[in-house]
Amino acid sequence: MSLVKCTLKELQDRFTRGDVSAVEIVRAYFLRIGVVESKVKAYITLNDKEAMLSQAQALDDALSAWRRTEPMMAMPIAIKDNICTEGLPTTCGSRILGGFSPPYSATAVDALRAQQCFLIGKTNLDEFGMGSSTEYSAFGPSRNPWKLSCVPGGSSGGSAAAVAADECVAALGTDTGGSIRQPAACCGVVGLKPTYGRVSRYGLIAFASSLDQIGPITKDVMDAALMLNVLAGHDPRDSTSADKPVPDFTRAFKKKDVKKLTIGVPLEFFAEGLDPEVNDAVGEALAVLEELGGTIHEVSLPHTGVAVATYYIVATAEASSNLARYDGVKYGFRAKESPDLLEMYRITRQEGFGPEVKRRIMLGTYALSSGYYDAYYAKAQAVRTLIRQDFDRVFQDVDLLVTPVMPTPAFQLGEKIEDPLQMYLSDLYTISASLAGIPAISLPCGLSRKGLPIGMQILGRPFEEDVVLRAARAYELATDWHKKRPLIRQGR
Ligand code: GLN
Repeated sequence: MSLVKCTLKELQDRFTRGDVSAVEIVRAYFLRIGVVESKVKAYITLNDKEAMLSQAQALDDALSAWRRTEPMMAMPIAIKDNICTEGLPTTCGSRILGGFSPPYSATAVDALRAQQCFLIGKTNLDEFGMGSSTEYSAFGPSRNPWKLSCVPGGSSGGSAAAVAADECVAALGTDTGGSIRQPAACCGVVGLKPTYGRVSRYGLIAFASSLDQIGPITKDVMDAALMLNVLAGHDPRDSTSADKPVPDFTRAFKKKDVKKLTIGVPLEFFAEGLDPEVNDAVGEALAVLEELGGTIHEVSLPHTGVAVATYYIVATAEASSNLARYDGVKYGFRAKESPDLLEMYRITRQEGFGPEVKRRIMLGTYALSSGYYDAYYAKAQAVRTLIRQDFDRVFQDVDLLVTPVMPTPAFQLGEKIEDPLQMYLSDLYTISASLAGIPAISLPCGLSRKGLPIGMQILGRPFEEDVVLRAARAYELATDWHKKRPLIRQGR
Protein backbone atom coordinates (compact mmCIF):
# COMPACT_ATOMS: atom_id res chain seq x y z
CA MET A 1 0.00 0.00 0.00
CA SER A 2 1.18 3.50 -0.82
CA LEU A 3 2.63 5.23 2.23
CA VAL A 4 0.24 8.16 2.14
CA LYS A 5 -2.77 5.81 2.30
CA CYS A 6 -1.63 4.38 5.64
CA THR A 7 -3.43 5.21 8.85
CA LEU A 8 -1.31 6.63 11.66
CA LYS A 9 -1.19 3.20 13.28
CA GLU A 10 -0.08 1.52 10.05
CA LEU A 11 2.56 4.14 9.37
CA GLN A 12 3.85 3.90 12.96
CA ASP A 13 4.09 0.13 12.62
CA ARG A 14 5.95 0.32 9.32
CA PHE A 15 8.37 2.91 10.66
CA THR A 16 8.94 1.05 13.92
CA ARG A 17 9.67 -2.18 12.05
CA GLY A 18 12.13 -0.33 9.87
CA ASP A 19 10.17 -1.05 6.67
CA VAL A 20 10.21 2.58 5.81
CA SER A 21 12.58 5.42 6.65
CA ALA A 22 11.74 8.92 7.86
CA VAL A 23 13.17 10.34 4.64
CA GLU A 24 10.86 8.12 2.57
CA ILE A 25 7.89 9.30 4.61
CA VAL A 26 8.68 12.99 4.10
CA ARG A 27 9.29 12.45 0.36
CA ALA A 28 6.03 10.53 -0.09
CA TYR A 29 3.94 13.22 1.60
CA PHE A 30 5.51 16.11 -0.27
CA LEU A 31 4.98 14.22 -3.51
CA ARG A 32 1.33 13.75 -2.63
CA ILE A 33 0.95 17.40 -1.67
CA GLY A 34 2.52 18.35 -5.00
CA VAL A 35 -0.16 16.37 -6.82
CA VAL A 36 -3.34 17.35 -4.95
CA GLU A 37 -2.78 20.53 -2.96
CA SER A 38 -3.44 22.89 -5.88
CA LYS A 39 -6.95 21.39 -6.05
CA VAL A 40 -7.73 20.92 -2.35
CA LYS A 41 -5.99 24.01 -0.89
CA ALA A 42 -5.86 22.55 2.59
CA TYR A 43 -2.76 24.44 3.74
CA ILE A 44 -2.00 28.07 4.45
CA THR A 45 1.70 27.39 5.12
CA LEU A 46 3.77 24.34 4.28
CA ASN A 47 6.85 23.62 6.29
CA ASP A 48 10.17 23.79 4.47
CA LYS A 49 10.73 20.52 2.61
CA GLU A 50 14.53 20.62 2.69
CA ALA A 51 14.58 21.36 6.43
CA MET A 52 12.22 18.44 7.02
CA LEU A 53 14.31 16.15 4.86
CA SER A 54 17.39 16.95 6.91
CA GLN A 55 15.43 16.41 10.13
CA ALA A 56 14.32 13.07 8.68
CA GLN A 57 17.86 12.12 7.65
CA ALA A 58 19.12 12.89 11.15
CA LEU A 59 16.39 10.67 12.60
CA ASP A 60 17.23 7.82 10.24
CA ASP A 61 20.93 8.11 11.04
CA ALA A 62 20.22 7.90 14.75
CA LEU A 63 18.07 4.77 14.54
CA SER A 64 19.10 1.20 13.96
CA ALA A 65 17.09 -1.14 11.73
CA TRP A 66 14.94 -2.57 14.51
CA ARG A 67 13.72 0.24 16.65
CA ARG A 68 11.53 1.12 19.55
CA THR A 69 10.37 4.61 18.82
CA GLU A 70 8.08 7.20 20.32
CA PRO A 71 4.61 6.77 18.83
CA MET A 72 4.61 10.04 16.88
CA MET A 73 8.20 9.84 15.67
CA ALA A 74 8.44 10.71 11.95
CA MET A 75 4.66 11.02 11.63
CA PRO A 76 3.65 13.90 9.32
CA ILE A 77 1.05 15.89 11.24
CA ALA A 78 -0.77 19.03 10.09
CA ILE A 79 -1.76 21.75 12.54
CA LYS A 80 -4.74 24.08 12.26
CA ASP A 81 -3.46 27.59 11.80
CA ASN A 82 -4.95 29.00 14.99
CA ILE A 83 -2.56 26.87 17.07
CA CYS A 84 0.81 28.47 17.80
CA THR A 85 3.88 26.86 16.28
CA GLU A 86 7.21 28.40 17.16
CA GLY A 87 8.97 29.68 14.07
CA LEU A 88 6.09 28.84 11.70
CA PRO A 89 3.64 31.62 10.80
CA THR A 90 0.30 31.36 12.59
CA THR A 91 -2.39 33.40 10.87
CA CYS A 92 -5.76 32.25 12.23
CA GLY A 93 -6.88 32.62 8.61
CA SER A 94 -6.85 36.37 9.16
CA ARG A 95 -5.07 39.34 7.61
CA ILE A 96 -4.72 40.81 11.08
CA LEU A 97 -2.09 38.22 11.99
CA GLY A 98 -0.22 38.70 8.72
CA GLY A 99 3.49 38.32 9.40
CA PHE A 100 2.99 36.92 12.92
CA SER A 101 5.33 34.10 13.86
CA PRO A 102 4.76 32.95 17.44
CA PRO A 103 7.72 32.92 19.82
CA TYR A 104 6.45 29.67 21.41
CA SER A 105 4.44 26.57 20.56
CA ALA A 106 1.13 25.41 22.00
CA THR A 107 1.39 22.68 24.63
CA ALA A 108 -0.38 20.28 22.23
CA VAL A 109 2.21 21.00 19.55
CA ASP A 110 5.08 20.64 22.03
CA ALA A 111 3.72 17.23 23.03
CA LEU A 112 3.82 16.07 19.41
CA ARG A 113 7.18 17.70 18.78
CA ALA A 114 8.68 16.08 21.86
CA GLN A 115 8.09 12.75 20.09
CA GLN A 116 9.79 14.07 16.95
CA CYS A 117 6.83 14.16 14.63
CA PHE A 118 7.02 16.25 11.44
CA LEU A 119 4.91 19.38 11.49
CA ILE A 120 4.13 19.26 7.83
CA GLY A 121 2.16 22.48 7.64
CA LYS A 122 -0.51 24.82 8.94
CA THR A 123 -4.03 24.25 7.69
CA ASN A 124 -6.71 26.60 6.50
CA LEU A 125 -9.67 27.68 8.63
CA ASP A 126 -12.48 30.18 8.81
CA GLU A 127 -11.00 33.36 10.22
CA PHE A 128 -10.41 32.81 13.98
CA GLY A 129 -12.47 29.61 13.74
CA MET A 130 -15.67 31.52 13.01
CA GLY A 131 -17.58 29.63 10.38
CA SER A 132 -18.61 26.24 9.09
CA SER A 133 -17.11 26.08 5.60
CA THR A 134 -13.57 27.65 5.54
CA GLU A 135 -15.03 30.22 3.14
CA TYR A 136 -14.42 32.92 5.74
CA SER A 137 -10.65 32.42 5.52
CA ALA A 138 -8.72 35.46 4.32
CA PHE A 139 -6.69 33.03 2.20
CA GLY A 140 -9.62 31.67 0.18
CA PRO A 141 -11.60 28.48 0.80
CA SER A 142 -10.36 24.91 1.00
CA ARG A 143 -12.22 22.34 -1.05
CA ASN A 144 -13.85 19.06 -0.25
CA PRO A 145 -11.66 16.22 -1.59
CA TRP A 146 -14.81 14.18 -2.33
CA LYS A 147 -16.21 16.90 -4.55
CA LEU A 148 -14.12 19.96 -5.24
CA SER A 149 -17.15 22.19 -5.80
CA CYS A 150 -18.28 21.54 -2.20
CA VAL A 151 -17.00 22.97 1.06
CA PRO A 152 -14.92 20.75 3.36
CA GLY A 153 -16.88 22.07 6.34
CA GLY A 154 -15.35 24.29 8.97
CA SER A 155 -13.84 25.83 10.70
CA SER A 156 -11.12 23.10 10.73
CA GLY A 157 -11.85 22.45 7.03
CA GLY A 158 -8.18 22.55 6.04
CA SER A 159 -7.24 19.89 8.59
CA ALA A 160 -10.14 17.60 7.62
CA ALA A 161 -9.44 18.04 3.90
CA ALA A 162 -5.71 17.40 4.41
CA VAL A 163 -6.43 14.09 6.21
CA ALA A 164 -9.05 13.02 3.65
CA ALA A 165 -6.76 13.89 0.73
CA ASP A 166 -3.78 12.01 2.28
CA GLU A 167 -1.77 15.24 2.61
CA CYS A 168 -0.86 14.35 6.21
CA VAL A 169 -1.40 11.24 8.31
CA ALA A 170 -3.36 13.07 11.04
CA ALA A 171 -4.11 16.65 11.99
CA LEU A 172 -5.00 18.89 14.89
CA GLY A 173 -8.22 20.82 14.74
CA THR A 174 -10.04 23.01 17.21
CA ASP A 175 -13.68 22.87 18.15
CA THR A 176 -15.69 25.68 19.71
CA GLY A 177 -19.14 24.71 18.48
CA GLY A 178 -18.42 21.83 16.13
CA SER A 179 -15.35 22.80 14.14
CA ILE A 180 -13.61 19.44 14.51
CA ARG A 181 -16.67 17.23 14.15
CA GLN A 182 -18.52 18.99 11.35
CA PRO A 183 -15.61 19.16 8.85
CA ALA A 184 -14.65 15.58 9.76
CA ALA A 185 -18.19 14.53 8.78
CA CYS A 186 -18.05 16.55 5.55
CA CYS A 187 -14.74 14.96 4.55
CA GLY A 188 -15.42 11.35 5.65
CA VAL A 189 -12.80 11.25 8.41
CA VAL A 190 -12.84 10.98 12.22
CA GLY A 191 -12.88 14.06 14.47
CA LEU A 192 -12.77 14.00 18.25
CA LYS A 193 -13.66 16.90 20.51
CA PRO A 194 -12.36 15.98 23.95
CA THR A 195 -14.02 17.01 27.20
CA TYR A 196 -13.42 20.69 27.96
CA GLY A 197 -10.19 20.75 29.97
CA ARG A 198 -8.86 17.39 28.76
CA VAL A 199 -6.34 18.96 26.34
CA SER A 200 -4.43 22.14 27.15
CA ARG A 201 -5.56 25.30 25.36
CA TYR A 202 -2.22 26.98 25.99
CA GLY A 203 -1.10 28.37 22.64
CA LEU A 204 -4.50 27.96 21.01
CA ILE A 205 -5.44 31.46 19.88
CA ALA A 206 -8.68 32.15 21.70
CA PHE A 207 -12.04 32.51 19.99
CA ALA A 208 -14.46 31.66 22.84
CA SER A 209 -12.37 30.51 25.77
CA SER A 210 -15.09 28.66 27.68
CA LEU A 211 -15.78 26.47 24.63
CA ASP A 212 -12.53 26.11 22.65
CA GLN A 213 -10.87 22.68 22.63
CA ILE A 214 -8.02 21.17 20.59
CA GLY A 215 -8.55 17.65 19.26
CA PRO A 216 -7.44 15.20 16.59
CA ILE A 217 -8.74 14.68 13.06
CA THR A 218 -7.70 11.25 11.82
CA LYS A 219 -8.37 8.48 9.31
CA ASP A 220 -9.95 6.17 11.87
CA VAL A 221 -10.94 5.82 15.50
CA MET A 222 -7.78 3.93 16.47
CA ASP A 223 -5.74 6.92 15.29
CA ALA A 224 -7.93 9.32 17.28
CA ALA A 225 -7.09 7.35 20.44
CA LEU A 226 -3.37 7.33 19.60
CA MET A 227 -3.40 11.09 19.14
CA LEU A 228 -5.42 11.71 22.30
CA ASN A 229 -2.87 9.67 24.24
CA VAL A 230 -0.27 12.30 23.32
CA LEU A 231 -2.44 15.40 23.63
CA ALA A 232 -4.35 14.76 26.87
CA GLY A 233 -3.09 15.82 30.25
CA HIS A 234 -2.94 18.54 32.84
CA ASP A 235 -1.04 21.69 31.94
CA PRO A 236 -0.20 24.23 34.65
CA ARG A 237 -0.04 26.89 31.93
CA ASP A 238 -3.77 26.52 31.22
CA SER A 239 -5.86 27.26 34.31
CA THR A 240 -8.88 25.50 32.78
CA SER A 241 -6.98 22.31 32.04
CA ALA A 242 -8.19 19.40 34.15
CA ASP A 243 -5.98 17.55 36.58
CA LYS A 244 -7.43 14.13 35.81
CA PRO A 245 -5.63 10.86 35.22
CA VAL A 246 -5.09 10.09 31.55
CA PRO A 247 -5.67 6.45 30.61
CA ASP A 248 -4.15 4.76 27.58
CA PHE A 249 -7.15 5.35 25.34
CA THR A 250 -6.32 2.40 23.06
CA ARG A 251 -7.05 0.06 25.98
CA ALA A 252 -10.70 0.93 25.46
CA PHE A 253 -10.51 -1.21 22.31
CA LYS A 254 -9.91 -4.45 24.19
CA LYS A 255 -13.65 -4.96 24.06
CA LYS A 256 -14.79 -5.13 20.47
CA ASP A 257 -18.49 -4.80 21.19
CA VAL A 258 -20.79 -2.46 23.05
CA LYS A 259 -22.40 -5.04 25.34
CA LYS A 260 -23.64 -3.50 28.60
CA LEU A 261 -23.67 -0.03 27.02
CA THR A 262 -26.93 1.88 26.88
CA ILE A 263 -27.19 4.29 23.99
CA GLY A 264 -29.61 7.20 24.01
CA VAL A 265 -31.15 8.63 20.86
CA PRO A 266 -32.29 12.19 21.53
CA LEU A 267 -35.60 12.79 19.78
CA GLU A 268 -34.89 16.47 19.22
CA PHE A 269 -31.92 15.63 16.98
CA PHE A 270 -34.03 13.67 14.52
CA ALA A 271 -36.65 16.29 13.86
CA GLU A 272 -37.51 18.70 11.04
CA GLY A 273 -34.62 19.95 8.95
CA LEU A 274 -32.69 16.68 8.98
CA ASP A 275 -31.90 15.44 5.48
CA PRO A 276 -33.55 12.01 4.94
CA GLU A 277 -30.29 10.48 3.71
CA VAL A 278 -28.51 11.55 6.90
CA ASN A 279 -31.43 10.33 8.98
CA ASP A 280 -31.29 6.90 7.29
CA ALA A 281 -27.51 6.55 7.55
CA VAL A 282 -27.51 7.33 11.28
CA GLY A 283 -30.51 5.02 11.73
CA GLU A 284 -28.58 2.18 10.11
CA ALA A 285 -25.56 2.93 12.28
CA LEU A 286 -27.78 2.62 15.35
CA ALA A 287 -28.96 -0.76 14.11
CA VAL A 288 -25.32 -1.86 13.87
CA LEU A 289 -24.65 -0.71 17.43
CA GLU A 290 -27.70 -2.67 18.57
CA GLU A 291 -26.45 -5.80 16.79
CA LEU A 292 -23.15 -5.33 18.57
CA GLY A 293 -24.97 -5.63 21.87
CA GLY A 294 -25.88 -2.04 22.71
CA THR A 295 -29.26 -1.22 24.22
CA ILE A 296 -30.96 1.67 22.44
CA HIS A 297 -33.26 4.10 24.29
CA GLU A 298 -35.09 7.16 23.12
CA VAL A 299 -34.30 10.15 25.30
CA SER A 300 -35.14 13.84 25.33
CA LEU A 301 -32.86 16.86 25.60
CA PRO A 302 -35.57 19.51 25.84
CA HIS A 303 -33.36 22.58 25.49
CA THR A 304 -31.81 21.51 22.17
CA GLY A 305 -33.95 24.02 20.27
CA VAL A 306 -32.32 27.02 21.96
CA ALA A 307 -28.72 25.75 21.81
CA VAL A 308 -27.78 27.61 18.63
CA ALA A 309 -29.13 30.93 19.96
CA THR A 310 -27.39 30.41 23.29
CA TYR A 311 -24.12 29.54 21.62
CA TYR A 312 -24.14 32.57 19.35
CA ILE A 313 -24.52 34.87 22.35
CA VAL A 314 -21.91 33.20 24.56
CA ALA A 315 -19.41 32.65 21.74
CA THR A 316 -19.71 36.13 20.25
CA ALA A 317 -19.50 37.77 23.68
CA GLU A 318 -16.28 35.94 24.47
CA ALA A 319 -14.93 36.58 20.96
CA SER A 320 -15.54 40.32 21.22
CA SER A 321 -13.45 40.38 24.37
CA ASN A 322 -10.71 38.02 23.11
CA LEU A 323 -10.28 39.86 19.83
CA ALA A 324 -9.87 43.25 21.52
CA ARG A 325 -6.14 42.52 21.69
CA TYR A 326 -5.64 42.95 17.92
CA ASP A 327 -4.88 46.64 17.84
CA GLY A 328 -2.00 46.86 15.38
CA VAL A 329 0.50 47.23 18.22
CA LYS A 330 1.08 43.80 19.69
CA TYR A 331 0.76 41.34 16.82
CA GLY A 332 0.98 41.08 13.06
CA PHE A 333 -0.65 43.56 10.77
CA ARG A 334 -0.75 47.36 11.26
CA ALA A 335 -2.51 49.83 8.96
CA LYS A 336 -0.02 52.00 7.13
CA GLU A 337 -1.43 55.49 6.93
CA SER A 338 -3.12 56.69 10.11
CA PRO A 339 -3.07 60.21 11.55
CA ASP A 340 -3.15 59.23 15.22
CA LEU A 341 -3.25 56.26 17.58
CA LEU A 342 -7.02 55.83 17.74
CA GLU A 343 -7.31 55.99 13.98
CA MET A 344 -4.51 53.45 13.70
CA TYR A 345 -6.49 51.04 15.90
CA ARG A 346 -9.63 51.67 13.89
CA ILE A 347 -8.11 51.30 10.42
CA THR A 348 -6.04 48.26 11.44
CA ARG A 349 -9.16 46.46 12.64
CA GLN A 350 -11.21 47.62 9.69
CA GLU A 351 -8.65 46.34 7.20
CA GLY A 352 -7.43 43.38 9.21
CA PHE A 353 -10.69 41.60 10.07
CA GLY A 354 -13.08 40.02 7.58
CA PRO A 355 -16.87 40.49 7.56
CA GLU A 356 -17.81 37.48 9.72
CA VAL A 357 -15.36 38.42 12.46
CA LYS A 358 -16.65 41.98 12.45
CA ARG A 359 -20.23 40.75 12.65
CA ARG A 360 -19.38 38.66 15.70
CA ILE A 361 -17.46 41.43 17.43
CA MET A 362 -20.50 43.68 17.01
CA LEU A 363 -22.96 41.02 18.17
CA GLY A 364 -20.81 40.15 21.18
CA THR A 365 -20.17 43.75 22.16
CA TYR A 366 -23.90 44.37 22.00
CA ALA A 367 -24.72 41.32 24.14
CA LEU A 368 -22.23 42.46 26.77
CA SER A 369 -23.15 46.15 26.79
CA SER A 370 -24.74 47.55 29.91
CA GLY A 371 -28.49 47.57 29.57
CA TYR A 372 -28.44 44.42 27.40
CA TYR A 373 -26.12 42.26 29.46
CA ASP A 374 -28.88 40.78 31.63
CA ALA A 375 -31.28 40.33 28.76
CA TYR A 376 -28.78 38.50 26.54
CA TYR A 377 -25.50 37.38 28.08
CA ALA A 378 -26.76 36.53 31.57
CA LYS A 379 -29.81 34.81 30.08
CA ALA A 380 -27.65 32.79 27.70
CA GLN A 381 -25.44 31.67 30.60
CA ALA A 382 -28.54 30.54 32.50
CA VAL A 383 -29.78 28.58 29.48
CA ARG A 384 -26.33 27.06 29.07
CA THR A 385 -26.72 25.61 32.56
CA LEU A 386 -30.09 24.13 31.58
CA ILE A 387 -28.50 22.52 28.51
CA ARG A 388 -25.78 21.01 30.69
CA GLN A 389 -28.41 19.74 33.12
CA ASP A 390 -30.29 18.06 30.25
CA PHE A 391 -27.15 16.03 29.58
CA ASP A 392 -26.50 15.30 33.28
CA ARG A 393 -30.00 13.95 33.54
CA VAL A 394 -29.91 11.66 30.47
CA PHE A 395 -26.46 10.40 31.36
CA GLN A 396 -27.94 8.94 34.54
CA ASP A 397 -29.82 6.49 32.31
CA VAL A 398 -27.60 6.07 29.28
CA ASP A 399 -23.84 5.77 28.73
CA LEU A 400 -23.69 7.40 25.33
CA LEU A 401 -25.79 9.41 22.91
CA VAL A 402 -25.85 8.96 19.14
CA THR A 403 -26.92 11.76 16.80
CA PRO A 404 -26.19 13.11 13.32
CA VAL A 405 -23.25 15.54 13.03
CA MET A 406 -24.68 17.86 10.43
CA PRO A 407 -28.20 18.26 9.05
CA THR A 408 -27.01 17.65 5.46
CA PRO A 409 -23.88 16.38 3.71
CA ALA A 410 -21.35 19.04 2.59
CA PHE A 411 -22.92 21.95 0.72
CA GLN A 412 -21.71 23.78 -2.39
CA LEU A 413 -19.11 26.53 -2.16
CA GLY A 414 -20.94 29.86 -2.07
CA GLU A 415 -24.27 28.30 -1.11
CA LYS A 416 -24.52 29.80 2.38
CA ILE A 417 -21.94 32.55 2.38
CA GLU A 418 -24.51 35.33 1.96
CA ASP A 419 -26.79 33.92 4.64
CA PRO A 420 -25.08 33.75 8.04
CA LEU A 421 -28.13 32.29 9.75
CA GLN A 422 -28.15 29.31 7.39
CA MET A 423 -24.43 28.89 8.01
CA TYR A 424 -25.01 28.99 11.80
CA LEU A 425 -27.60 26.22 11.50
CA SER A 426 -24.95 23.81 10.18
CA ASP A 427 -23.89 23.50 13.82
CA LEU A 428 -27.29 22.55 15.16
CA TYR A 429 -26.18 19.10 16.32
CA THR A 430 -22.66 19.86 17.48
CA ILE A 431 -23.17 22.97 19.57
CA SER A 432 -24.90 21.37 22.57
CA ALA A 433 -21.89 19.18 23.40
CA SER A 434 -19.68 22.28 23.30
CA LEU A 435 -21.96 24.21 25.65
CA ALA A 436 -22.04 21.23 28.02
CA GLY A 437 -18.27 20.62 27.71
CA ILE A 438 -18.70 16.89 27.05
CA PRO A 439 -16.65 14.67 24.71
CA ALA A 440 -17.99 13.88 21.26
CA ILE A 441 -16.66 12.08 18.21
CA SER A 442 -17.70 12.28 14.58
CA LEU A 443 -17.13 9.24 12.39
CA PRO A 444 -18.17 8.24 8.88
CA CYS A 445 -21.37 6.19 8.62
CA GLY A 446 -22.46 6.50 5.02
CA LEU A 447 -22.30 8.15 1.63
CA SER A 448 -25.06 10.19 0.06
CA ARG A 449 -26.42 9.45 -3.42
CA LYS A 450 -24.16 12.22 -4.69
CA GLY A 451 -21.18 10.43 -3.17
CA LEU A 452 -20.63 12.76 -0.21
CA PRO A 453 -19.74 11.44 3.24
CA ILE A 454 -22.24 11.35 6.10
CA GLY A 455 -21.13 11.40 9.73
CA MET A 456 -22.57 10.19 12.99
CA GLN A 457 -21.81 11.68 16.36
CA ILE A 458 -21.28 9.77 19.62
CA LEU A 459 -21.36 11.81 22.82
CA GLY A 460 -20.34 10.69 26.29
CA ARG A 461 -20.09 11.76 29.91
CA PRO A 462 -17.35 14.24 30.87
CA PHE A 463 -13.90 12.57 30.79
CA GLU A 464 -15.33 9.33 29.40
CA GLU A 465 -13.59 9.60 26.05
CA ASP A 466 -12.65 5.95 26.52
CA VAL A 467 -16.31 4.87 26.41
CA VAL A 468 -16.98 7.08 23.38
CA LEU A 469 -13.93 5.68 21.60
CA ARG A 470 -14.83 2.10 22.45
CA ALA A 471 -18.28 2.36 20.87
CA ALA A 472 -16.92 4.26 17.87
CA ARG A 473 -14.22 1.64 17.29
CA ALA A 474 -16.65 -1.25 17.65
CA TYR A 475 -18.85 0.37 15.00
CA GLU A 476 -15.87 1.03 12.77
CA LEU A 477 -14.66 -2.57 12.94
CA ALA A 478 -18.14 -3.80 12.02
CA THR A 479 -18.44 -1.54 8.97
CA ASP A 480 -16.12 -0.16 6.31
CA TRP A 481 -17.21 3.45 5.79
CA HIS A 482 -13.93 4.71 7.23
CA LYS A 483 -12.03 2.82 4.54
CA LYS A 484 -13.69 4.66 1.68
CA ARG A 485 -11.43 7.33 0.20
CA PRO A 486 -12.15 10.12 -2.23
CA LEU A 487 -10.93 10.25 -5.82
CA ILE A 488 -9.70 13.79 -6.25
CA ARG A 489 -10.68 14.91 -9.73
CA GLN A 490 -10.72 18.31 -11.28
CA GLY A 491 -14.09 19.67 -12.33
CA ARG A 492 -16.13 17.62 -9.88
N1 GLN B 1 -19.30 27.03 13.17
C1 GLN B 1 -19.32 27.48 14.53
C2 GLN B 1 -19.04 28.95 14.58
O1 GLN B 1 -19.00 29.54 13.56
C3 GLN B 1 -18.33 26.71 15.33
C4 GLN B 1 -16.96 27.15 15.05
C5 GLN B 1 -15.94 26.41 15.84
O2 GLN B 1 -16.23 25.40 16.44
N2 GLN B 1 -14.76 26.99 15.89
O3 GLN B 1 -18.88 29.54 15.58
